[in-house]
Amino acid sequence: MDKDESPASWCPSGDAHAPEAVVLGVRSGQEGRVVYLADPVPASQVLGEVPEGVEPRRILRFASHCVTNCVNRRGDDCTLVERVLAKPQASATTVPRCHLRTRCQWWSQSGVEACRRCPAVSTRHRADDELAELIADPTTTREQLDAWIATEAG
Ligand code: SF4
Repeated sequence: MDKDESPASWCPSGDAHAPEAVVLGVRSGQEGRVVYLADPVPASQVLGEVPEGVEPRRILRFASHCVTNCVNRRGDDCTLVERVLAKPQASATTVPRCHLRTRCQWWSQSGVEACRRCPAVSTRHRADDELAELIADPTTTREQLDAWIATEAG
């Protein structure tokens, strides 16, 4: 195993092409929300079935090891889930059943609030989705996010 990989911690917005990658779910719910698989399926078994010209992350979410050289990593923490949590929830959402939970970095770091927002996270968002761009950008500070959200709300 690569020395950068922590087998106890997995990223739910992972790299589809990592050797250990599994399919977390399918973006088949309302507004592309993720519907989680009951059991992990190796990404390598699925990637070949995605039609040519379709970016796999448009239709699937993948999980892979949380690695120390990730741009979103700060110490042992994931800053991506911090930015995901900054986005207000549109409505009360249920906590999905998810095969990754016992190994998930977001769950271990942020608990049930991460799970409530997780289905709406898009690993590959639309270019015109400015808030998603900000959340995905590891250089975005919480202050910048809060300011953007406050401006939109006002
Ligand atoms: S944040 Fe929750 S729902 Fe999302 S992958 Fe982790 S355990 Fe599953």
